[in-house]
Amino acid sequence: MIVVTPSASSKVRVVTASGGIMSPGPPAAFSAPNGTTGTLDGAVKYHLVTLGCAKNTVDSMRLEAALRGGRHTSVAEPEQADLLLVNTCGFIDAAKDESIEVVRELDAGRQAGQQLYVIGCLTQIAEETVRQAVPGVDATFGAEQWDAIAASVGAASATFDIPDTALPVLGQPSAYLKISDGCDRPCTFCIIPTIKGKMHSGAARTLIAEARMYAAAGAKELVLVAQDSTAYGEDEGDRDGLARLLEELSEAVPEVPWIRLMYAYPGRVTPRLAEAMAGLPNVVPYMDMPLQHGSDAMLQRMKRPRLSKSHESIEVIRRAIPDVVLRSTFIVGFPGETDQEFEELLDFVDEHQLDHVGAFTYSPQVGTPAEQMPDQVPEDVKEARYGELMELAQSISHASNREMVGREVDILVESREPTQSASGEPVVVGRTYRDAPEVDGLAFLKGTYAMGQMVRARVDGALPYDLLCTPVADAAEAAFGTAADASPRP
Ligand code: SF4
Repeated sequence: MIVVTPSASSKVRVVTASGGIMSPGPPAAFSAPNGTTGTLDGAVKYHLVTLGCAKNTVDSMRLEAALRGGRHTSVAEPEQADLLLVNTCGFIDAAKDESIEVVRELDAGRQAGQQLYVIGCLTQIAEETVRQAVPGVDATFGAEQWDAIAASVGAASATFDIPDTALPVLGQPSAYLKISDGCDRPCTFCIIPTIKGKMHSGAARTLIAEARMYAAAGAKELVLVAQDSTAYGEDEGDRDGLARLLEELSEAVPEVPWIRLMYAYPGRVTPRLAEAMAGLPNVVPYMDMPLQHGSDAMLQRMKRPRLSKSHESIEVIRRAIPDVVLRSTFIVGFPGETDQEFEELLDFVDEHQLDHVGAFTYSPQVGTPAEQMPDQVPEDVKEARYGELMELAQSISHASNREMVGREVDILVESREPTQSASGEPVVVGRTYRDAPEVDGLAFLKGTYAMGQMVRARVDGALPYDLLCTPVADAAEAAFGTAADASPRP
């Protein structure tokens, strides 16, 4: 049974009888804007309404980050906007009705030139219903399609950029630590090296001071980001710079239980790095390594490392940390991608059973070599391939989550306030070490806990991307005051 409970922070929350909040399913193909998007050229003012569960709120935050990357700005009032966005909920009739009602209201109040996009769970499962109810909708997108939405209004240049380290993270449970910026790689689809210039590493002592500041402000997780994190130190001639930095950070902030590495580059995951990660108690056994494709020919056209480097890097990290959680991202529909090459990508993902997979449909970026390449892939083919890849990725993610059922894990609480289960029990939202903020799944935990608490819990259920958890009896607050206590190993 599912119930809907009103909440102050979102109009509708959908909670299962078991206390878990339902997660949207796999991203769906979307209907492109209906040809009127020409009015959305340049900087766009958007008004975003978010309905539904906490996961939808996270999706909206991700979408807003992508839109801001395109220099678009949020406005509080619909009448000030060029673009009206409704992130919908669609799991039960009451939630569908409310979503459609909000879309209708915005449509009725539209001014000349304003665009209306409907996105999220409802359009994923019942796009036609939305279009019949409100024929004036300009575009629909399924769940987790933020990059496609951003691309449709010219914000695609943010796709390969990294999250900003910013002061507002102080007081939050997670903080991004940007260890370097810029990029020396020649990827033919990416404008970042042109925008940001050559890679330059942050000084270790500055990064350590920054990490200490976040730790003192209460951060329980440091997420190391860079365009290419494994290049850290190379501009200073240090091929083992990242391993050394991890060691120094681990020692400098033992009170931070989770240090997480994002954006490793295939071929640069050295045994030295893998062994350092394996041996450091507060570096989580997790690695994000964007691999972009599973076909050697495609990788060559992208000017990425050969496929053998991808295989090699996965082997190196799994040899050092057999239960490491691996995340990767891939591009589908890059110019010239054939059916056979796409099949090779599916085979690659299937072979390596990657725990988390993100994907982008290729979107030409002005000023990149790939923009001028022949054999651009039609949008409908890109979308079909995207759907097929994400269906496979979802089944692998679900299997990986099912293996967690019955195990105990620490959950880092991220909710500012609890929501309610069907039986009226409070539920908070957080993550285990297996999920990176913003891009991976969530853990739904019964109980009332403050944001930033680390709670020991048992996994009771597995959704495709998320976990349903119950606190371990009489041990709700995990002891994590020291690195040894807080070992993330399951
Ligand atoms: S590694 Fe490639 S995709 Fe990533 S920022 Fe550098 S050029 Fe862009």
